[in-house]
Amino acid sequence: MKMAAGWRLSKGEIRKYYVDENDLWSSFNYVFSEACAKRSTYKFGLIKSILDNILSVTPTSRGMELSYIDIFSKFTVNYWNLITKYHLRQIHSNVRYTDSQIEKVFQDALSHAGVLGDVEFDSLAENDKNSIISKVTKECKRCVVGALYENFDGQLYGFDLKDTGIWINPVAYEFMLKYKPEIEQLNYYAWAKFLEKVNKDDALIRVLGKLELSTPRRVDLSIYRKILEMEFEDNTCFYCGCKLSRSAHVDHVIPWAFVKADHLWNFVLACPKCNHKKNDRLPTKEGLSRVIVRNEHLKSVPKIFISKEFKGYNPDLMWRIWNYAKLSGLKEMK
Ligand SMILES: [Zn+2]
Repeated sequence: MKMAAGWRLSKGEIRKYYVDENDLWSSFNYVFSEACAKRSTYKFGLIKSILDNILSVTPTSRGMELSYIDIFSKFTVNYWNLITKYHLRQIHSNVRYTDSQIEKVFQDALSHAGVLGDVEFDSLAENDKNSIISKVTKECKRCVVGALYENFDGQLYGFDLKDTGIWINPVAYEFMLKYKPEIEQLNYYAWAKFLEKVNKDDALIRVLGKLELSTPRRVDLSIYRKILEMEFEDNTCFYCGCKLSRSAHVDHVIPWAFVKADHLWNFVLACPKCNHKKNDRLPTKEGLSRVIVRNEHLKSVPKIFISKEFKGYNPDLMWRIWNYAKLSGLKEMK
């Protein structure tokens, strides 16, 4: 029997650490099903944000810690386009508010900034961004963190709203790492079905595509290029060893399509030819070993930016992601 009032909870421990894959599939499928009550899409949004952050959690004795700031920064960016650009309503029409709190926060922010319509979240002033994220965090802590906790019967994570974040059950963490693309797809599908119910038809063209685009891909990777150039004086292509010109590409070692996040430990410099050839492929085992050796060197550079980028990283994680990405259908580079 699933209790309905999870959103009222202010904290909850992980109730069961030893769950198997069947238990977890069953819980995820329940949350995606219509049997699990939802008045807005926030549960889908929270699952998505946890998945988007899954490579930067910190292991502690109670679980894999993930801060509210990390979760809801992603959550905000993911929702921004859906609401301000695609005008997709995120709340059931039978509730008494016409807009969800998040929609209101965004609209207020837009009118405060004096801009109309399409503006990228990243282009807002730093103060405005922080203020939006902090309002979204407050709202989501109130209405969705406890609710999702309860829907998973306390198996997915533990939380305390007074704390800095949630702690994910290590078994569930490994499960999400392993089945990330599959869970993502099921989440999109259930989210899209919900949106179809609460939106006008004309808002819905290719709604699945809009959801997939909701994790915006960073365009400017120059900060990573600079660091990699600075730390590796020989300045050669990681894959073929040719001398790099100004047109060096910053390449995601494990493709972006799988990780959906930017981490320094997952970047190398490549010549345009190799970058193009690699595209959405995985490196070979030999290539991955070299990245891991490179990372040991890079990790030891005493710079705050670098140590932040390496949060949650370890060589073994890289091997596991490589294997899981293969399992999800990605091919190795030839
Ligand atoms: Zn090359």
